[in-house]
Amino acid sequence: MNLLSLLWQLQTTDTELDEKAKRLQQIDTALADTPNLDAARAAHADAQKRLAHLRAQLHDGELQALALDAKIKSIEERLYSGRVTNPKELDGMEKDLQMHKRQRNALDDKLLALMEAVEQAHARADETARALEHIETTRARELEQLARERDALIARLAELNTAREETRARLAAHADALRLYDQLRQTKAGRAVVQLKRDACGACGFAIPTALIQRVREGNVLVLCSGCGRILVG
Ligand SMILES: [Zn+2]
Repeated sequence: MNLLSLLWQLQTTDTELDEKAKRLQQIDTALADTPNLDAARAAHADAQKRLAHLRAQLHDGELQALALDAKIKSIEERLYSGRVTNPKELDGMEKDLQMHKRQRNALDDKLLALMEAVEQAHARADETARALEHIETTRARELEQLARERDALIARLAELNTAREETRARLAAHADALRLYDQLRQTKAGRAVVQLKRDACGACGFAIPTALIQRVREGNVLVLCSGCGRILVG
């Protein structure tokens, strides 16, 4: 393999290494990141809390209603028993009775509204539970896929690192070329070596003179693009 073929091979390996390393980083971020799940859990917890609160209110209201009913019943029993004959006392009892009945009616309206609210809160709790379950299932599947992809990436990165070291070892006799390659990798966004594309630089499009193209095709000396400074290969 001539010098330029080896440099192109090194570039190809390094490019894939860059891509795979970047993907590995994305995967690690995705594995650590759970904003959807957190939001769904919070929404479900809120919905359950609201439902429990409304149910407790409804229960209190129902107890109040029972207590009022008992009071009304006891007043009515005394009122209609004939045991009380004092008009003033009867009048007071009658007023008491009306007051309790008004309270009972108001309580009925409140209980009805609460029952409706409980029903809505129940529906909301169910809805958030289903949403959470869906997200959890999706997330579990996603985690499994990411873990599989991560394993494959790590294996491939190891292969690429070995290939990279092998190619660099084969380029050991061309220390200057390797040094230039490493410099260009740093200054040219990772792309030190580019292929010719219709007699022009594949990176910047600069037209390469025919005499130089010939030397690029022979592959034994470095020819740099006059436009971007990268190493050209055929
Ligand atoms: Zn160029």
